Amino acid sequence: MKLPKKIRVDNYTYKVVPIKNQNIISSNKRHKHRKLMGEANFPKQKIRISTAWSRDEVAETLLHEIIHCCAEREGLPHDEHYVGRISRRLYQVLKDNHLKF
Ligand SMILES: [Zn+2]
Repeated sequence: MKLPKKIRVDNYTYKVVPIKNQNIISSNKRHKHRKLMGEANFPKQKIRISTAWSRDEVAETLLHEIIHCCAEREGLPHDEHYVGRISRRLYQVLKDNHLKF
């Protein structure tokens, strides 16, 4: 997919940064050695997405990071297990039903 340059979540504007490497090294000190397909940095309002994957994987990763940003904005917990399952299912629903808003 063609990544948007920015994603707006409420009054925050996240810059979307495509990364050519297959794995992104986490910028979070707690997860320093984890390899990721994407990562949202809330204080810096930046979403990094690896573009070395299939169209569906890149799109779902972007959706995954957007869900993290929305949960963060709402003060909701957003552990990887929860966000991973929601993003996979929501992406499938949006895609299979051809939903565009
Ligand atoms: Zn995540």
